[in-house]
Amino acid sequence: MFEVVIGLEVHVQLNTKSKLFCSCPTSFNHKQNTNTCPTCMALPGALPVLNKEVVHKSIMLGTAIDATINKVSIFDRKSYFYPDSPSAYQITQLYTPIVEHGELEIELEDGTKKTIRVNRAHIEADAGKNIHDGDISKVDLNRAGTPLLEIVSEPDMSNEFEVIAYLKKLHSIIRYLDIGDANMQEGSFRVDVNVSIRPKGDKKLYTRVEIKNINSFKFIQKAIQLEVTRQSEAWEDGVYEQEIAQETRLFDQVKVETRSMRGKEEAADYRYFPEPDLLKCVVTDAMMEKYSKIPELPDAKRDRFVKEYKMSEYNAGVITSSVEMAHFFETMMSEQGVTAKTAITWLTVELPSRLSGETNITNSLVNAKKLGFLVKRIDDKTISGKAAKEVLDYLMENDVAIDSVIEKLGLKQVTDMGAIEAICEEIINANPEKVAQYQGGKEKLFGFFVGQVMKASKGSASPQAVNEVLKAKLG
Ligand SMILES: [Zn+2]
Repeated sequence: MFEVVIGLEVHVQLNTKSKLFCSCPTSFNHKQNTNTCPTCMALPGALPVLNKEVVHKSIMLGTAIDATINKVSIFDRKSYFYPDSPSAYQITQLYTPIVEHGELEIELEDGTKKTIRVNRAHIEADAGKNIHDGDISKVDLNRAGTPLLEIVSEPDMSNEFEVIAYLKKLHSIIRYLDIGDANMQEGSFRVDVNVSIRPKGDKKLYTRVEIKNINSFKFIQKAIQLEVTRQSEAWEDGVYEQEIAQETRLFDQVKVETRSMRGKEEAADYRYFPEPDLLKCVVTDAMMEKYSKIPELPDAKRDRFVKEYKMSEYNAGVITSSVEMAHFFETMMSEQGVTAKTAITWLTVELPSRLSGETNITNSLVNAKKLGFLVKRIDDKTISGKAAKEVLDYLMENDVAIDSVIEKLGLKQVTDMGAIEAICEEIINANPEKVAQYQGGKEKLFGFFVGQVMKASKGSASPQAVNEVLKAKLG
């Protein structure tokens, strides 16, 4: 009976070396208030200078979402007083953002596609951080002035699944473009969710409630469910007008609830006006030319993998779900003689099952080149799949050459038919009774002979070759 209307604001921290308007480094693991200067501490007389890299990265994002990139965009002051913002205003872009009218296509659970419009993406400066320590609060300005790109969607989503699909899409685009690390836990991909409800079929937009402070996809889903329930219950109880106000609510992940944080300000409350200390932001043709050539995006890569490597849509989806995995796979495939089928198994099953804790595919001792070489050794039948597992176990802890490990562990597969025939003959001669029984119809004994041969070869014989030779010899 109700329809849910959801729009998202995503703050993406851009991974530039220096801050938006000064040359202070953007790295955070420094002593408090050391990555600061007169500009980002807002000392009187200090003037901002726009970091070009931020403009370049904005062009890349705009290109990736098929948006208009404004040749001229303008910075505005948004006035508000918080301890972590020493200037008492934030520099942002209200009236003319750098990126406008984009779109993202998402895939719904039933496989159909839906286009979510992106209203805008604008450049703004991040605030510092308040640190609460018992009775006192401290301010750390290391983060003040870090560049953000705020990406604002239209209210085109109607449930939490669409929201998650949109966010995952946006997240992976940012990672593929390498314009930010988009780490939700560390706050470099911050999501504010605007939720309202309306009777089905109604076109009017009702009071929207903003939920902040949600740092995982799981909690975003939960927060939306809670808010939709709260609003529809108020409607059904006839107290919608009284209870649902335009406000900002905070998601409490411990109590799993949302609660009122403050009334939502209207734009007028911020007394926006054009920033007098900065020139207009101009995107030149040369910049457009250079930065609109973006790397291959996840969807295109997925389609190409399906075609080029004849893999299933599912596998292609898994491998392109993260840029790291996609690059890992492509590096593996650059090794001569590697088949995609074996590479997929070892990349998506064998390697991940051996990773734990802080170790992942980007910092594992077994890198893409190594895993590719190991797969090559399986594909060229130097070792069996079973032996390769042993080699991989060893490589997870020892940085050594693969061929030397195969040698050292004695895992080289014997494919020399002469050698295998000799072992088979030896086993047959040593077990005349079993041979007679087998030839008398006890076919189950075949397994016994295979086992004996494998044992005699210390597991190195190719099982396929052993089967063939035994079948021929035993008749
Ligand atoms: Zn600074």
